[in-house]
Amino acid sequence: MKLVVAGTLALDTVETPFGRAERIVGGAATYIALAATQYVQPVGVVSIVGNDFPPTMLESLERRGVDLQGVVRHLGRPSFFWAGRYHADMQGRDTIETQLNVLEEFPDTIPPAYRQAEYLLLGNLDPVLQKRIYDQVVPRPRVVLMDTMNFWIERSREALEEMIAVVDILSINDEEARLLVGDYSLRRCARAILAKGPRYLLIKKGENGALLFSQEGETFFFPAYPLEDVFDPTGAGDTFAGAIMGYIAAQGRLDIEVLKEAVVQGTVLASLCVEQFGPDALMSVGREEVAERRSQLLRMSHFMGLTVSQ
Ligand code: AMP
Repeated sequence: MKLVVAGTLALDTVETPFGRAERIVGGAATYIALAATQYVQPVGVVSIVGNDFPPTMLESLERRGVDLQGVVRHLGRPSFFWAGRYHADMQGRDTIETQLNVLEEFPDTIPPAYRQAEYLLLGNLDPVLQKRIYDQVVPRPRVVLMDTMNFWIERSREALEEMIAVVDILSINDEEARLLVGDYSLRRCARAILAKGPRYLLIKKGENGALLFSQEGETFFFPAYPLEDVFDPTGAGDTFAGAIMGYIAAQGRLDIEVLKEAVVQGTVLASLCVEQFGPDALMSVGREEVAERRSQLLRMSHFMGLTVSQ
């Protein structure tokens, strides 16, 4: 398995100013895997689901090129559950409830077919679990990308710092970067985080785009695609990360040029994802739609006639 991802397969209750969706399928691994299959297939998933996870969803994931050998089906407990409410600006959100449920019995081992993965995406999970998965891939994957969130920064700091030191790319949002470093300036946060070890740092800023920082001191800004309607921002960050890693795996190498295009792909897929509730959009999106939106995004962010030296 060339690309392996780990993360939650969840049931989410999402409330936005435009509506509410109860116990829909979500979870970091769902969004990541669906985004990554746009670029490489199969994509292996390490996760666990409970007895309330719809089997039809697992079948749909398989049809989209997701390999589920690494997904444990627990018959005695409910799935990981998350409930969140978005603010009027559709940017900020409050976590109303997090029920770990089966996540407490996350698989200790990954399937033999996953142990030589070349590309490993450690989605938002307890960093103790992220480390356990990372340690089982031998030799070390060519590229490791990690995501996390405030929940783990606050609860599992030591294990998180250990993982940040070994990954190639860290993908977090602006709020998480500030929480991690304890500074307001994102450039200073980036310097402090890169000093811990990652070659590249991605800081997501929701509808304000994303920043890319490298160990070599480079900084790039990527605008988001300006959408008319945002229905559910859940999973945007996971989709962004999944598309980036899928694109890198498809190219077979990681350098700043590959990463720049990967970020554009991530931006495009995330914008498509948030136009519908849950992962529905990722279930049906095709290459042509992605290519068309990519062209629009590049046209919108190209400043005609301006050159760097002016
Ligand atoms: P995002 O909007 O990209 O931050 O991802 C939201 C997804 O992450 C939801 O589908 C949730 O099920 C999942 N999620 C929320 N909280 C956690 C957590 N503490 N650990 C792992 N996954 C989570």
